[in-house]
Amino acid sequence: MIHIDLRSDTVTHPTKEMKKAMYDAELGDDVYGDDPTTNSLQEEVSEILDKEDSVLVSSGTQGNLVSLLAWADRGDEVVVGDQSHIFMAEAGGPSVLGSLVLYPIPTDEDGYFSKKSILDSIKPRDYHKPTTKLLCIENTHNLSSGRVLDLSYINSVSKISKLNNLNLHMDGARLFNASTYLKVKPSELVKDVDSVTFCLSKGLSCPIGSVVSGDKDFILRAKKWRKMLGSGMRQVGVIAAAGRVALRTTVDRLEEDHINAKKLALGLANISELEINPNRIQTNIVRFNIPSGKGEIIANHLKSEGIYINPGKFDLRMVTHRGISAEDIDISLLAMEKVIKKIF
Ligand SMILES: *Cc1c(COP(=O)(O)O)cnc(C)c1O
Repeated sequence: MIHIDLRSDTVTHPTKEMKKAMYDAELGDDVYGDDPTTNSLQEEVSEILDKEDSVLVSSGTQGNLVSLLAWADRGDEVVVGDQSHIFMAEAGGPSVLGSLVLYPIPTDEDGYFSKKSILDSIKPRDYHKPTTKLLCIENTHNLSSGRVLDLSYINSVSKISKLNNLNLHMDGARLFNASTYLKVKPSELVKDVDSVTFCLSKGLSCPIGSVVSGDKDFILRAKKWRKMLGSGMRQVGVIAAAGRVALRTTVDRLEEDHINAKKLALGLANISELEINPNRIQTNIVRFNIPSGKGEIIANHLKSEGIYINPGKFDLRMVTHRGISAEDIDISLLAMEKVIKKIF
């Protein structure tokens, strides 16, 4: 029975080496700061990203949440993309739990903001207005099919933020996919942001975990929020151990996922009922449109062929990862052609 799971890179399981490292991990109570494996992971990440300090959190959503709460107080405003994961897919946490005002601004098809829309979003000092504290960018940008923000853009956004006394946060859930695509060190990508979060649990194949990095004082505040959110975890070295292996072993192979995603997109482009520009695919997320609105039907038929994808009426998403080979792409494309013939 074929089972090809293209729903997300979160479906990746830990490698044997990760499981062994989890089994063998040296442990302590991390709430006391005593877990040596977690401390090592956090130090290694700080080194890789060239930030003062880092903290392991339970998920990317929690990483973004503690970052926003650490930068902005009740009633403050956080500027986010209208197509960002923070705004669209994190259950409104910053508003529910932090009483923050999320102000969404237009995002272009590549995940970028215009200079004008950033400047327009920053409120003047006026007691009618919330105080704008933080701007958030997303790299790679999930909803725009995993597009990558480049260094000069990040630098220009950072300049605008500094001039206007805003902090800049990067939701880098797939930061290492972005650095792989740009062929730059991850530290280069985050040198102009005040804080960043990335996921260990996506393409890096860990079972659990994300890391937040920034300056020491920011990380102290983030740790307090993490505790309040119930994620002061104890012998959390069992999770950190997998993260350490991931940084050593799964970053270098992300390129393979990008090559497979491109191959997939080129194949899909040959099917006239689907709408996709394969030149837009930079990393491991392949989104495409179904003008007929039959996306869910296609996804259901593919499922009965053993191929799992993210359903939508007018758009579908397929994500490549460590569990997907070049051969799996061939099989998926054949199945897609078969399904399309059947439905149309
Ligand atoms: C997946 C994702 C997150 C959240 O990560 P979880 O670990 O699923 O909470 C945040 N931002 C982006 C862009 C993502 O793709």
